[in-house]
Amino acid sequence: MATREDLCIAMDLGGTKMRVALIDRTGDLIQRDSEPTLANQSREQTLERLTSIITRLVSSTGDRKLVGIVASLASPVDPVTGTMNNPPNLPGWDNFSLKPLLEATFNLPFWAANDATLGAIGEHACGIGQGISNLLYITVSTGIGGGIIVNGSPFLGSRGFAGELGHMSIDRNGPSCACGNRGCLEMFASGTAIARFARERLENGETSLILEMAGKDITNVNSKMVMEAADRRDPLGVELIEQFARDLGLGLVNLIHIFDPQMIIIGGGVSQSSRTYSAALDATIRSNVIPHLKEHINVVTSVLGDDASLLGAATLAFQRVGRAG
Ligand SMILES: [Zn+2]
Repeated sequence: MATREDLCIAMDLGGTKMRVALIDRTGDLIQRDSEPTLANQSREQTLERLTSIITRLVSSTGDRKLVGIVASLASPVDPVTGTMNNPPNLPGWDNFSLKPLLEATFNLPFWAANDATLGAIGEHACGIGQGISNLLYITVSTGIGGGIIVNGSPFLGSRGFAGELGHMSIDRNGPSCACGNRGCLEMFASGTAIARFARERLENGETSLILEMAGKDITNVNSKMVMEAADRRDPLGVELIEQFARDLGLGLVNLIHIFDPQMIIIGGGVSQSSRTYSAALDATIRSNVIPHLKEHINVVTSVLGDDASLLGAATLAFQRVGRAG
């Protein structure tokens, strides 16, 4: 039986960073550490660095009991085996599970889940979604990820792979996505898409503050620059961010029609960095959603940011070992 003093190791393995934290059952982050993932390194090298971070945190727990390790992974994850399926930003990790290595090394139980699913669990347990039984969590960064809470519990689908909100098509004739579908939401409304649209327009000779921000080198353009240009009322920046907001809004309308959620929480770097998009997002949702759902639209920004998935991982760990006695 878990007690208030117990701790867990929550880790998040993404394409750019790996983060590990020691968290207690009230959701307090006792200690944390992070390193760049260096996705170009071999998996073995990355695993070596990951296990040494975990070792450091484990050695600082004193006599407090560790209940287990939960990994938040930027990948579709088999919830039983922890096996990753084609992680888009972790080449070389396909069909791999951390479970055998970490269980053997630390003699602790190990669980793994998709990072956006854990983000939803984290916001529901410790963030802006507390007390909300039906919510959707959507992360908009390099790609788009999603987590679903239905009647207070994560909805994982029949095999654990539900929540691929970024691969919902909003245009059957749209650009091809790496997943095999066409016109996926993340081909229009992700950080990668914003930067791609901006580069296309600049290559066609349009003038914009974005080009100045990129040091006159179109290949340097990223979504943050486009967001910032929009906030500074640069016409191309405003147009691209409004287009992004309309596309994201169409995706959210589809989700509202399917789930009738009490709340949609938007997380990820892109949502945090612009003031321009919220009006266009709101207008798109209001003009496209079924009339009787209009009064209940509640789209908010994540309050936990990057910590949502770590806190979701900790919540999962303590749920698995049982409530405090
Ligand atoms: Zn796709």
